[in-house]
Amino acid sequence: MSVTERLLRVFRVDQQLSGLQSRLRAAERFLEEQTKQLDQIKSKRDAIAAQLKLLQAQAANHEGEMARFDARIETLREQMNQAKTNKEYKAFLTEVNTFKVERGAAETAALELMTKADDLKKQIEALEAQTQERTKLRQVAADDRQKRDEEIRDRLNELKGERDKLVAEVPAPAMALYTELVRVHGDDAMCPVEELDRKSHEYTCGGCQMAVPVETVNALIKGTAAQAPVTRCVSCGCILFIEKETAERLQPGNKGGKGGKKQKSLEV
Ligand SMILES: [Zn+2]
Repeated sequence: MSVTERLLRVFRVDQQLSGLQSRLRAAERFLEEQTKQLDQIKSKRDAIAAQLKLLQAQAANHEGEMARFDARIETLREQMNQAKTNKEYKAFLTEVNTFKVERGAAETAALELMTKADDLKKQIEALEAQTQERTKLRQVAADDRQKRDEEIRDRLNELKGERDKLVAEVPAPAMALYTELVRVHGDDAMCPVEELDRKSHEYTCGGCQMAVPVETVNALIKGTAAQAPVTRCVSCGCILFIEKETAERLQPGNKGGKGGKKQKSLEV
């Protein structure tokens, strides 16, 4: 088995691993999003609750003022009843009227604040309903993440074990190159050669779509690397491989194409 074939086995396992992990990561991202939204609703609710507390304290102050005016008006009324002269009576009456006006202003202010407070209370209720809903959603997301984690755990361990065995069969320099390419190119670390036009011997790199010389294709079919330890695309640097089906179709003497014409040898 060629070095490329050995690497390809590792690459296939890596693709499975990243596929499994990406499903888990999607669930994790969804959970994070739900948690973030829940926190936002809660902090909005807390801010409004603090505002409400302030308004209620202000309203209570105005109510306190009203009570003090009531007490003074009550005292003045008693004094009016005991007034000895009309002039004295009128003086008390003027004072009562002044206090009544001030009491009215305090009452108006208190009512305005209460109306605002009622509005804030409604907002808090709405946010609490949202919190409940979002908490449920967040729980669903957390369960889903947990479930996916459990679902893939065994398979992940299995694949990791398989990978260790396959890696052991790859020569160290080739493995080092592969690891570096995965770090830089991710899923494009290894790319298949694609057949563009067989008659004119046009082949491209499946990663960057740049032309691959026919000599390179032949070497890959024979299982010998055109360069050591593996064949790389001269454009993007990926490790090139040839899919079994492509290789079989390209084998000299194989029938292919329209009308079952004999395929020309690729020998050059
Ligand atoms: Zn390429």
